[in-house]
Amino acid sequence: MCGVFGAFSTTSRPVLEDIYLGLYALQHRGQESAGIAWFDGRELSTAKGMGLVHEALRQEELARTPASVGVGHVRYSTAGGSFFANAQPLTATYARGHVAIAHNGNLTNADGIRAYLQGRGAIFHSTSDTEVILHLMAHQAHKPSLDALLSALLRLRGAYSLAVLLDGRLVAARDPWGFRPLVLGRREDVFYVASESCALDIVGAEFVRDVAPGEVVLIGDEGFRSLSISHKAKRCYSCAFEYVYFARPDSVIDGISVYETRKRLGNYLARRTPVAKADFVVGMPDSGTPAAIGFAQEAGIPYEKAITRNRYVGRTFIQPTQRVRELGVRIKLNPIEACIAGRELVVVDDSLVRGTTSQRIISMIREASPKGVHLRIASPPVRFPCYYGIDTPTSEELAAARLDRQALERLVGADTLAYLSREDLLAAIGKPENSVCTACFCGDYMDEENGLDLEIS
Ligand code: SF4
Repeated sequence: MCGVFGAFSTTSRPVLEDIYLGLYALQHRGQESAGIAWFDGRELSTAKGMGLVHEALRQEELARTPASVGVGHVRYSTAGGSFFANAQPLTATYARGHVAIAHNGNLTNADGIRAYLQGRGAIFHSTSDTEVILHLMAHQAHKPSLDALLSALLRLRGAYSLAVLLDGRLVAARDPWGFRPLVLGRREDVFYVASESCALDIVGAEFVRDVAPGEVVLIGDEGFRSLSISHKAKRCYSCAFEYVYFARPDSVIDGISVYETRKRLGNYLARRTPVAKADFVVGMPDSGTPAAIGFAQEAGIPYEKAITRNRYVGRTFIQPTQRVRELGVRIKLNPIEACIAGRELVVVDDSLVRGTTSQRIISMIREASPKGVHLRIASPPVRFPCYYGIDTPTSEELAAARLDRQALERLVGADTLAYLSREDLLAAIGKPENSVCTACFCGDYMDEENGLDLEIS
């Protein structure tokens, strides 16, 4: 999972601080590295580093740099390891000009393309799947750069939401299956592309629209110009997990509020898996909170913030000593005994992946002497890995792939455990079934349409 952000000013207004702020709002999508590439009319420059946005980039310097177009990226590695060479945007200067690419998603045919291109002499500098896009473009140097990009995209399979800096123009592109979100925004003379609408809010931009699956938007002095990738997908695969967990709750994806969707997930969960005589509902901080509110509203029982989260975790550094390791999740979370003792509670979490976090939190809640603990998961069991840009573990590490519900109930230490069904997940999101990816829940992966013609002309 990664985040991308791009900006273009038609009046040469500096935009790099906007990009910094946009990445800051997208920090939840990747914490391993951050970078920005910009074009000053003559040359392409980049600033990149490992770690969080404020660690990797220098805001004051960026604010002073007079570039009116640029793209940025926050990275969480799913293809290629976590090291500097893989930090994005990836840049290249080739026969037709300068290009910088910020990519969110995973290409499922990158290995095949890489082997094909290496067989023809290409030398790769990173292990990132994104680099194949640059090489595909370079192999078509007889075409104008935009045409080379479009024909490179035609050869890709899997997930890509891109912000591309192409010879001083900004390009937004979303794969024909629409796996990852991508939105357009505007504030006066500045046009934006962002992974999520929450990143438009931080720069004071108004949301214009989503980039449609299979659409390429050219952003230049004339504003937005829409083109399309000529590969037509049979159906879309918008990632259900974006609504369940990944996206920020204040974002709107394809016209659907993430926060309201999470509350609806909780509504369905309460309707289908009620808990008799529960005293209150608590959300697993923070990702389970909207679904817990939805559960409480539907069930007509109180919602309590009975687990406190240390707000400074993630912003402050604590030495990983043996004592800190033993404390584990208690460093971050602490149940409020006065609220929990002697009471029957429903704990709502967004998903259950390895099961270890739920296990630790429920064991901590048990120390506060509740009468009963009922775990409700606002998504179906995660049984299959994701190949489209989300770092889910292998099948062996997925708790629900190894254990049935009763065994999981025992593993996490809950009195009862229940999940949302796939049908209710789809109903809560509200998109047609054939436009949503639920492969990690049901194993129904995208049809890869084998036999791709890689011959480059
Ligand atoms: S497999 Fe799961 S996480 Fe991956 S794109 Fe599909 S729904 Fe999203």
